[in-house]
Amino acid sequence: MGGGIVGLAVARELARRNPHATLCVLEREAAIGTHQTEHNSGVIHAGVYYAPGSLKARLCVQGARELYEYCEQRGIASERCGKVIVATEPAELGQLEELERRAKANGVPGLRRIDAAGIRALEPHARGIAGLHSPQTGIVDFSSVARSYAQDVRDAGATVATGCGVESIQLAGRSLRLGHARGVTEARHAVFCAGAWADRLAVAAGADPDPRIVPFRGAYLKLAPERRHLVRSLIYPVPDPSLPFLGVHLTKHIDGEVLIGPTALMVGARDAYRLARVRRRDLLDTLAWPGTWRMLARWWRTGVTELRHAALHSAFARAAARYVPELRAADLHAAFAGVRAQALARDGRLVDDFVFSRTERALHVRNAPSPAATSSLAIARHVAEEAERAFDLAP
Ligand SMILES: Cc1cc2nc3c(=O)[nH]c(=O)nc-3n(C[C@H](O)[C@H](O)[C@H](O)COP(=O)(O)OP(=O)(O)OC[C@H]3O[C@@H](n4cnc5c(N)ncnc54)[C@H](O)[C@@H]3O)c2cc1C
Repeated sequence: MGGGIVGLAVARELARRNPHATLCVLEREAAIGTHQTEHNSGVIHAGVYYAPGSLKARLCVQGARELYEYCEQRGIASERCGKVIVATEPAELGQLEELERRAKANGVPGLRRIDAAGIRALEPHARGIAGLHSPQTGIVDFSSVARSYAQDVRDAGATVATGCGVESIQLAGRSLRLGHARGVTEARHAVFCAGAWADRLAVAAGADPDPRIVPFRGAYLKLAPERRHLVRSLIYPVPDPSLPFLGVHLTKHIDGEVLIGPTALMVGARDAYRLARVRRRDLLDTLAWPGTWRMLARWWRTGVTELRHAALHSAFARAAARYVPELRAADLHAAFAGVRAQALARDGRLVDDFVFSRTERALHVRNAPSPAATSSLAIARHVAEEAERAFDLAP
């Protein structure tokens, strides 16, 4: 269930391993991949940031390697353009060192420390006092990847059914009855990959409400075409280690566009592609969750900065100009926004790692934020192995 990049990758892997199984993907929207899969930075992460030993670290490094191979095999445009992480102040050097340590422990290929001249050699318009260069970080259009996974699913004889928003889940003897807009689908087992709606489906299947998904909107600006030369590939800040977001970055897109963003603003709808969109149920779910208030008590200052970036074009431009000083507000135009499905624990912790859980006859992907698109093939293998154990499927 869920026709985003994760659900489609899981379906593809299950179909590949169980050629005699009857398999169907139920997607609520009229088309596949219309949520996070379509609204993101398009970066194939190399695995620099993640705590060694975490699922993110392992599945990102494996997933990136497999994704490049997959794109080559299928003729999907991807580019190992490399990225620089730039420190602009001495206070950031300790965290840069920690990132280097993590990247080495995670087996990120080719990562090296660079100085101010090294930054300029790679990104002539960027400024910083030290940095890291990750040559294997790259770019791709994740929507094209998801469409290709869906084709693999269909080629394996399985079905991708759109317009099937699952509304109810009932255990009925040896099967699950999934009620949706087009009737009922009876299944021996189910895997739920619902992105921003993951908690609701897990709870409907009998799981604990912890963690809850809280939507964080990420808006992007784009560089005017005549200023695209200011960014050669990918320029990232040194992120705050206590937040799961990477900060405003400058990224070349596979279609040549240069994006600046995303912001990270808590919003009132799980599909708040427009800032003004508020859905009563989504808002109540966020406000009624004790973790929301605990998180706000800790992060309200960051929230105020994000609000300024969201409201003021000039503040957003200034944040990016810290890395590329020639950037002016007039060089930037509004682009699109995505909404992150960020799991928030009851104790107010923004859950950093991928989270998978189980209910009777079902598996749930409960937290698959960035770099889950990069990691999709490795996540799919992880979930399929888990399904073989939980559902007693023959490999
Ligand atoms: C701003 C932003 C930038 C990002 N940048 C990157 C990046 O550069 N690199 C990277 O690797 N990752 C990035 N990510 C993360 C990445 O986009 C996500 O981790 C990934 O797309 C998650 O895929 P998904 O399939 O779990 O979710 P989604 O793509 O959101 O798919 C979930 C699907 O479930 C469906 N669904 C929900 N409820 C139901 C229901 N009841 N019945 C049926 N279907 C349902 C939805 O309609 C949707 O199609 C970014 C994310 C955001 C928001």
